[in-house]
Amino acid sequence: MATTLQPSPIESVGGPSQSQAYGVASAEAAVEPMTIERRAPRPEDVAIRITHCGICHSDLHMARNDWGMSVYPMVPGHEIVGIVTAVGSAVTKFKAGDRAAVGCLVDSDRTCDHCKAGHEQFCPNWVMTYAGKDLQDGSVTYGGYSDRIVVRQEFVCRVPESLDISRAAPLLCAGITTYSPLRKFGVGPGTKVGIAGLGGLGHMGVKLAAAMGANVTMITTSPEKGEDARELGAHDVLISRDPAAMEAAAERFDFILNTIPVTHDVGPYLNLLKPNGVMVIVGAIDMLEGIHGGALAMRNRTIAGSLIGGLPETQEMLDFCAEHGVLPEVEHVRPGEINEAWDRMAKGDVRYRFVIDMGAANSAA
Ligand code: NAP
Ligand code: ZN
Repeated sequence: MATTLQPSPIESVGGPSQSQAYGVASAEAAVEPMTIERRAPRPEDVAIRITHCGICHSDLHMARNDWGMSVYPMVPGHEIVGIVTAVGSAVTKFKAGDRAAVGCLVDSDRTCDHCKAGHEQFCPNWVMTYAGKDLQDGSVTYGGYSDRIVVRQEFVCRVPESLDISRAAPLLCAGITTYSPLRKFGVGPGTKVGIAGLGGLGHMGVKLAAAMGANVTMITTSPEKGEDARELGAHDVLISRDPAAMEAAAERFDFILNTIPVTHDVGPYLNLLKPNGVMVIVGAIDMLEGIHGGALAMRNRTIAGSLIGGLPETQEMLDFCAEHGVLPEVEHVRPGEINEAWDRMAKGDVRYRFVIDMGAANSAA
């Protein structure tokens, strides 16, 4: 299936370059090697040799067109780290050799109120890292399951030197998606936090909430993950499939971060919130069952949502992780192993983020 792959030439600032990528041809297709073109760096662009790319559950949702916004062929991947190889003439923020990171968006109009506030993810003209449309030439964007990428400097973050680059990639989506709501709702010392779903997002939620000083409980369907949850920093573990344990935990939490990736009955999770408690949905971009007005009104509870985070907050999160020694737990895979990794992720069998080692691209037959 896979072809023998040749190293891509280092691009010159002068012209477009070919990139070895891994993507899907349709909603039913398996991941396969493909060659894509990366644009010649524009004056504001940074060209990056990708060293690692995380595998987010969203990649699988997008590959299968679960959200009805996919375009094919698709090269997924929005947890990208690597090394700068070239910069455009107007770039001030980076130089060749710097460590760089790219998350879920690669451009926006940079003029609307959301962009000015640093919330580019709400910009009506935001450009997703893959399956988006370039604002200047209309071409479809391709993501980080590839060996190089070219991105406007404002959408590239610095990777602090103290962060191990082989583990940092998941911070660009799983990290910021959990950091942002934890910060927004003031999680810290004295807060009782529940994190539902111990996968890529959930394990970052546990680590970050613990680093912020909160008391953290892992809420999981998988009793066998309990020991790991404690090692990640959880003070307690609650098995959501145990109705008696869920009943005993009623009104225990100030804040719940719900990362469950599929539609589910949120009623049992809502009952875990104290009066005035908040549950933030980041996982299921879907219809939700089990929302009874009484469960909200009778306890002044709030259900909220959160979408990744803006660029300034993404850099803040990377700096926070460097300062607090927070790094994802990763299992490295080679590009030829992405299909297997997706299958395992769909079954919840991931501890706790797959990261593609793009350095292995040239031997991924
Ligand atoms: P993941 O690594 O697959 O982890 C999800 C975890 O949820 C699983 O490990 C499992 O943990 C639990 N789970 C799975 N199926 C479940 C079910 N039927 N009922 C209850 N729990 C279940 O996924 P991820 O990468 O963390 O992503 C999670 C979701 O967030 C995805 O839907 C993704 O698209 C979405 N997402 C949203 C944003 C945003 O900006 N809002 C950003 C990134 C991703 P246990 O074994 O512990 O139960
Ligand atoms: Zn993601």
